[in-house]
Amino acid sequence: MCERYAPGVSVLAAEGELPSTCTLCGAQETRPAYHKNGFEVVRCAECNLVYVSDAPSADVLRQHYDWRFFQGGTERFGYHDYERESAALNRNFRQRIKLIERHCRGGQLLDVGCALGYFMAQLGSHWAPVGSELSGDVAEYTRRTFGFDVVEGEFDQIDLPNGSYDVVTMWDVIEHARNPMRMLKKAAQLLRPGGVLALTTGDIGSICARVSGQRWYLMVPPTHLFFFTNATLKRAVTQAGLTIVDVRYTGKHVAFSEIFFRLSYILGVSAFERLAERIARTPLGEVSLYYNLRDIMTLVAVKRNAPS
Ligand SMILES: [Zn+2]
Repeated sequence: MCERYAPGVSVLAAEGELPSTCTLCGAQETRPAYHKNGFEVVRCAECNLVYVSDAPSADVLRQHYDWRFFQGGTERFGYHDYERESAALNRNFRQRIKLIERHCRGGQLLDVGCALGYFMAQLGSHWAPVGSELSGDVAEYTRRTFGFDVVEGEFDQIDLPNGSYDVVTMWDVIEHARNPMRMLKKAAQLLRPGGVLALTTGDIGSICARVSGQRWYLMVPPTHLFFFTNATLKRAVTQAGLTIVDVRYTGKHVAFSEIFFRLSYILGVSAFERLAERIARTPLGEVSLYYNLRDIMTLVAVKRNAPS
């Protein structure tokens, strides 16, 4: 597949699956930004949203996010060993739970792109979590391991009751979506009035991203299809009908071995991958580092009560 059409107009757009216009502002004119991993990354001439113009189909993406994404990656993308990295991930999740609980003390929570369920597993008993996950295998693992209810499929098309969630979370998810605006609007629909959306995504306007250019570690099409700045993310969330109450740049804990695994595919040096494997088998594999490159945005938004 992947027969290419003119730049800025994707195969899927030609099939009517995706709009050929910018999902954020509707403009059609784009400027080339990067060419990475065989994909064209463009910048909207009107609103500056950066996105992959020739995104793969939903079916191709679903194969991409099967079990291998979390165990050594698919075609060198994804995580080295998501399970082994769980200590670092859980520290990040507990940090995020603290942030959410400043805005909502508990209730029905929907974790979009819940992966192996680690975030939901960190929630206290005052939360009733439900997950959504694109991959059937991963959804099944999370159901079996933790007993969570996990809905399978593309989030903007899954069937869940509107106006019924206290919190919707999207941790490092919207950059993977084929249409993040549809996801944000769906999240707004599912929230009860006063409900909270919390999400993280990279900032392509950050100093780190601008200095790194197409070598930025988050510039990984087709895993990532959209690249927001502080301004485009705020515009997207506001356009979805939500009121932003907090945007911050939070650091992350990452397992020592995972750093070498990521270096191996950023720099294309396979020796780092072998080193990561070795480190993971030693006590150093348990060690995590905290870093903050100020290129990850954490945003909290609220669904205001409808005007009476
Ligand atoms: Zn635009």
